[in-house]
Amino acid sequence: MLDEKLHDIYDEVLRRDAGETEFHQAVYEILSSLGPVVAKHPQYADAAVIRRMCEPERQIIFRVPWADDAGVVQINRGFRVEFNSALGPYKGGLRFHPSVYLGIIKFLGFEQTFKNALTGMPIGGGKGGSDFDPKGRSDAEIMRFCQSFMTELYRHIGEYTDVPAGDIGVGGRELGYLFGQYKRITNRYESGTFTGKGVTWGGSQVRTEATGYGTAFFIDEVLKAANQSFDGKQVVVSGSGNVAIYGIEKIHQLGGNVIACGDSSGYIVDHKGIDLELLKDVKEVRRERISAYAESRGGESHFVGGGSVWEVPCDIAVPSATQNELNGSDAARLIKGGCRIVAEGANMPCTPDAVKLFAEAGVVFAPGKAANAGGVATSALEMQQNASRDSWTFEDTEQRLAEIMRRIHDRCLATADEYGKPGDYVAGANIAGFTQVADAMLALGLI
Ligand code: NDP
Repeated sequence: MLDEKLHDIYDEVLRRDAGETEFHQAVYEILSSLGPVVAKHPQYADAAVIRRMCEPERQIIFRVPWADDAGVVQINRGFRVEFNSALGPYKGGLRFHPSVYLGIIKFLGFEQTFKNALTGMPIGGGKGGSDFDPKGRSDAEIMRFCQSFMTELYRHIGEYTDVPAGDIGVGGRELGYLFGQYKRITNRYESGTFTGKGVTWGGSQVRTEATGYGTAFFIDEVLKAANQSFDGKQVVVSGSGNVAIYGIEKIHQLGGNVIACGDSSGYIVDHKGIDLELLKDVKEVRRERISAYAESRGGESHFVGGGSVWEVPCDIAVPSATQNELNGSDAARLIKGGCRIVAEGANMPCTPDAVKLFAEAGVVFAPGKAANAGGVATSALEMQQNASRDSWTFEDTEQRLAEIMRRIHDRCLATADEYGKPGDYVAGANIAGFTQVADAMLALGLI
């Protein structure tokens, strides 16, 4: 329940941003942690800081025309929502997925603002993308789409303005085409305008792995805080994209055993532990459906078409696919199966009723804005390297990432303690992120 002042803010969002359900959910989630903060610091309410935070600084929507391989003209819609630049240039990825509309980009940009603050790095929050569906498209079609998308977006971005990266449907290949077109239009090799670049053309070591690795490091900190370790733990990860693959890799290295993962067609179970080389081959090289993993693995693994990966009992669940993929009944099943820790590799993958059930059952719940912040933190490290025209080794960069995740973890717990919510990672992450952005906004005047 929200207190009265916060409820008024939420009502205003519902009224002004009608139909943007994911955005409403993300706003409600933050507001539900802020009761003790506004009670302690009335200046935030007096200066309407929270209301201002709910309104993006700028929203750009544009047409993306392109021709497919058959010469047929296709029209998609492009978005960039520049949410908050109190702490630094807007920073956040681009998502290419048919479900994309303004409400999804706004939820992601809003979340990103607090996540980025939590990293302690000088980056604001933004997000963008398109309702373009890359599935089944040829390389040439992907390139033409990216070039058309960037032909509009280039005028809104820059290393001191707005710095995009990847997200669902946007990986190394797409970033290459986007950066190539940006460079061509501007006639500038402005590496710092993008992150997630290839390591041979301005990218950082560990950026590809960073979100998944960071989530695994975060879980490791959660385990350490409870005097435990990954040893002997059975883990289930949803998705089999960038976050999932590198999450699985690091969890294995830290001693956990990931026994299931999936995609939108279903999931595979492999009790001996996922064969990562095979998974990478299926997903990153052959770009096939997850059933191809079970087919190539012979009798060691089976595929469940159309099912939810949360049917598989585990000690630790790491939802790493998409928003609202783990609902109340999934949560109840996980709790019954003995799950004790849930860490969000994806953005907002757990529905509010799932989060509530976890809290009631005493399951430790690490929200995405803390657990998956390693991706954007490493993007900020990439910006640092670009600005100093330097490049660091894999080991050095990974060590910095592990240290950042440890700091985020400790900051969540310390903030939760300070506001009377010991052990509550949601309250800790929301309040720590919020106060940092709010204090900067107060200092900068009425912005
Ligand atoms: P990818 O596109 O690389 O992978 C997404 C994966 O999720 C795919 O396996 C996809 O399967 C699966 N998936 C998508 N929708 C569903 C669904 N409805 N049910 C089951 N599986 C589904 O994206 P990323 O790994 O980059 O991103 C995953 C999540 O992590 C997103 O929420 C993103 O915002 C978040 N994130 C990503 C960061 C990054 O650095 N990449 C940083 C921080 C957060 P299919 O191929 O069948 O669609």
